[in-house]
Amino acid sequence: MARRIPEPFRIKMVEPIRQTTAEDRRQALVQAGWNPFLLKAEDVYIDLLTDSGTGAMSDRQWAGLMMGDEAYAGSRNFLHLADTVRELFGYAHTIPTHQGRGAEQILFPELVKRCRGERPVFLSNYHFDTTKAHVELAGARAVNVLTPQALDTGAAYDWKGDFDLPRLREIVAAEGDNVAAVIITITCNSAGGQPVSMGNIRAASELARARGIPVVIDAARFAENAWFIRERDPAYAGASIPAIAREMFGHGDMFTMSAKKDGLVNIGGLCCFKDDEALFREVQVRCVPMEGFVTYGGLAGRDMEALAIGLREGLDDAFLSYRIGQVAYLGERLREGGVPIQTPTGGHAVFVDAARLLPHIPAEQFPAHALACELYLEGGVRAVEIGSLLLGRNPQTGLQESSPFELMRLTIPRRVYTNDHMDYIADCLIEVKQRVTEVRGLAFDYEPPILRHFTARLRPA
Ligand SMILES: *Cc1c(COP(=O)(O)O)cnc(C)c1O
Repeated sequence: MARRIPEPFRIKMVEPIRQTTAEDRRQALVQAGWNPFLLKAEDVYIDLLTDSGTGAMSDRQWAGLMMGDEAYAGSRNFLHLADTVRELFGYAHTIPTHQGRGAEQILFPELVKRCRGERPVFLSNYHFDTTKAHVELAGARAVNVLTPQALDTGAAYDWKGDFDLPRLREIVAAEGDNVAAVIITITCNSAGGQPVSMGNIRAASELARARGIPVVIDAARFAENAWFIRERDPAYAGASIPAIAREMFGHGDMFTMSAKKDGLVNIGGLCCFKDDEALFREVQVRCVPMEGFVTYGGLAGRDMEALAIGLREGLDDAFLSYRIGQVAYLGERLREGGVPIQTPTGGHAVFVDAARLLPHIPAEQFPAHALACELYLEGGVRAVEIGSLLLGRNPQTGLQESSPFELMRLTIPRRVYTNDHMDYIADCLIEVKQRVTEVRGLAFDYEPPILRHFTARLRPA
């Protein structure tokens, strides 16, 4: 048997977490309208709502906070950050932002302005929610061109984050000048943290560049994607993670990044340009009123220092092996316990296929959300629904959109929980599986008109 590799860190500071009783949890959930989003974090034992901004910083990052230079302009931490971006990614121009959506908000309107077509469209393997929202706020359309391989959660396929290249070629040809940009999302969050292969990144980029279409990398989980390429593509078996990352970024012209993921900070983002100085200047102009002056973009000097250090730590081989190994370990425990999950597990989360686990609950009673509620009642573990509740209604017809997935996401924060926590989570979910036929669907008490999953109130149907 392969020897299990322990966490590659020692724990220097601890934050106590408190387990509640089953009765406490039932009361808390009823009070929260059967919506785990509305729980108090203190009533949660293990919180797997998101991996965004929930990671633990290292001793070096905490030390970096003390070195914050809070000058309004030209802070040394900004210079350190820009140098780090230049060295790791080969991009000349850096704009810090408060988080990923801040970068989207200042970049996309400029790309729409530059677009020569009448009906601007962005093409991506899959637009993240805020990415789609900012494309639409900029007056453009967002079209996803994901490989159909991603839709079958049970199928083992290494690159479920890939573009469907034949389809991308068709759309690019049909849309012509309307294509404002191709956005390569690494890893593909919405498909389950699934990686995009280097060959696919290269091909998508070449296809765009042949027509003068800018290539944007949505780089939230760039390091996890690089690690998967090293593990799964024999051509990169001996390559270093930073070298792979640099090659991936070489296929882009600019990137937006939510640094709250692989950047290993609790807040921060980036909007960077390889060499297009004119576009960089235009986006800088937009940055000032939206995010803040161009050398801080909504961040304190100390935040930029922590990010400059975090970008490097995020690429560390031992860290990534532990990180992605931990997600795979949880997936393996669940699979052994007979819980259906998206296979293979992605970089940041395990996705449980609730449509398969709770076939007795119809989509309009939100099987994945019902499962998340039950998991909370069982053990105080907070997960999140990625399915019909999240997708919502069609704004034109008012009808529920039909979701290709009913998934419950167990999102693992970075460097926060140990594999003992993973065992506990798996034990709870396997326990729920034993009585899954008793789990009931949910109906609305209050349904907000938009982004309803955040604030909806429900009750057992
Ligand atoms: C999180 C995320 C974003 C948005 O970033 P925020 O920091 O949450 O604003 C954009 N794209 C992807 C792929 C993400 O995962």
